[in-house]
Amino acid sequence: MRDVRPQSLGHGIHTIPAPLPFPSPRWVNVYLIERPDGLVMIDCGVDWEPGHQALMEGFASLGLEPEAVDTLIVSHLHPDHVGMAPRLVTEWGCRVVMHRRAATLYERYNDTPGFERWLAALARRHGVPPDLQPVIANLGPRPDFMPPIGPPDVVVDDGERIDLGGGRFLEVVHTPGHEPSHICLRDSRTGILFAGDHVLGRITPVIMYDAATDDALGDYLGSLRRLLELRIGLTYPAHGTIVERGAARVSQILLHHERRLAGMEEVVSLGPATAWQVMGHVFRPHLSTMEQRLALRETVAHLEHLKIGGRLTAFDEDAVLWYRRP
Ligand SMILES: [Zn+2]
Repeated sequence: MRDVRPQSLGHGIHTIPAPLPFPSPRWVNVYLIERPDGLVMIDCGVDWEPGHQALMEGFASLGLEPEAVDTLIVSHLHPDHVGMAPRLVTEWGCRVVMHRRAATLYERYNDTPGFERWLAALARRHGVPPDLQPVIANLGPRPDFMPPIGPPDVVVDDGERIDLGGGRFLEVVHTPGHEPSHICLRDSRTGILFAGDHVLGRITPVIMYDAATDDALGDYLGSLRRLLELRIGLTYPAHGTIVERGAARVSQILLHHERRLAGMEEVVSLGPATAWQVMGHVFRPHLSTMEQRLALRETVAHLEHLKIGGRLTAFDEDAVLWYRRP
């Protein structure tokens, strides 16, 4: 069982694990960095009472004032990272900082019916059986823990510096893949990388086919290689425990996707297949509806990457997309 208590990690960095209403991941790691005149917070969890209470108790046990948070940096537009932002802005008056792409993509985060329509079209296009298509596309009522969000108060670009005072800053590294606006932040004083969901210790982040990019997996692999060039070491992820050797973990994740790509290529080499059929070979059976939705998007992301790289081609039959070997 991992240590899920609030902790001070040294160099003015603290972490508070905030519980999540999902079976997995169960926690998001909220990070706080002390500045001479306030606190910077990275990610905030979803908007529900156990999460809010964990934050408040965490601040108290660390001897910090929640109202000292003047800046909330959000690593990406998923509810476990941005969900509580509107509430914290109201309570603390902090400003929200996100990557430039979030300035438009936040509208999509708010649009559940639009996302359901997109999922229904995706399911049809990729060979999901007709009776299952509405099940896959039905997200149900929007949960209370993800209220609509506004645009970021401040947008940042790759390479930009977020001032921490005393000559210290966080360098923004744009790492699209898990989500198009995803950023990592590198601490200039310690070299520590706040990795969001880009690099996790034990699980690999789901890489989903996404309307905002042609090649989500290509984006992700490029963003991983970027971290190898930066020679990252100590890495603080948004879920799970600290990763001591960031670059080694990045290499493992790259290998995981290479294997998955090769596995899918092999399935398609047996004969033309839809993404739904490939998914049935590659993922374990008896997935929940949510897992099926994620697995389908992950499969399409891999197949599209193979297609863009020339390792597969695709053809249409009755508006369904089939992949095959060239
Ligand atoms: Zn997450």
